[in-house]
Amino acid sequence: MAPHRPHLLLSPSSSLSVPRRTFLGHVAGGVAGGAVLAGAALPALARAGHGGVLHAPAVVGRAAPSKPLVMLDPGHGGKDPGAIGFSGTYEKHVAEAAAQELSRQLLATGRYRVALTRASDHFIPLDSRVDMAQQHGAALFISMHADALHNASVRGASVYTHAHGASDSQTADLARTENSADRFGGPMVHGASPEVQQILASLVTEETRKGSSHMAQAVVSAFQSRVQLLTHPHRHAAFAVLKSAQIPSVLVEMGFMSNRLDEAALRQAGHRAMVAGAMCNAVNRYFASAGAGLAG
Ligand SMILES: [Zn+2]
Repeated sequence: MAPHRPHLLLSPSSSLSVPRRTFLGHVAGGVAGGAVLAGAALPALARAGHGGVLHAPAVVGRAAPSKPLVMLDPGHGGKDPGAIGFSGTYEKHVAEAAAQELSRQLLATGRYRVALTRASDHFIPLDSRVDMAQQHGAALFISMHADALHNASVRGASVYTHAHGASDSQTADLARTENSADRFGGPMVHGASPEVQQILASLVTEETRKGSSHMAQAVVSAFQSRVQLLTHPHRHAAFAVLKSAQIPSVLVEMGFMSNRLDEAALRQAGHRAMVAGAMCNAVNRYFASAGAGLAG
């Protein structure tokens, strides 16, 4: 089995090569605790944590309703470390650091408002991540990960969109692992039955599906010259976190913790900045193109 779970931890160290405060730093005057919102006043929300903990809304800066809201979703968190690399790197830390960097870059363009599903190291059920994006009226949802695969030789970035059937068995495994994250929530978080999941998945409209696919292609294009990609880098499966009915949603695997080279690269702030730069470029392409109309 790939080194995805805590009991396979090879080293107790979870630190990256960047200071811890990088992960907890606020975004453009945002506040810690629940979603970090930046660039505009946003409505209340956010039940984060399986206990139904409510986080007060963060209201930051002047309202700029014309700017689309990009919701960034660093994978895992809290008791769910995500994948753990051979050197002991936790996926949850890489995801959070990369999301903070992408948030900074997106805000620097002056074109977007940005919110994060989590800006600190705490557990959030998958449904809550989708709920946050919906309640905030996000125009785009980007889940950020660096999971583990069974085959440790596989490396490179890839982008995933929602579909009932998986594009390949590797992606089916990935979706199964991701969708099991709620088990960390204990008895208060129950995964929906396969039947309910099917119904929820069917809510993803054709329009949303097109927007998601459009964004995935933009990410692949932006990565092509800068970030190593898997073969057939745009894949699909029934990822629970991508089931929003109205919001185009993608899940980006920035690399894999199961590969030593990917892990080493993602530990570096410079590499994460490059990946975030490519993703920022993809967001720009997405909103600049005619397809952005699909974002609603
Ligand atoms: Zn993950």
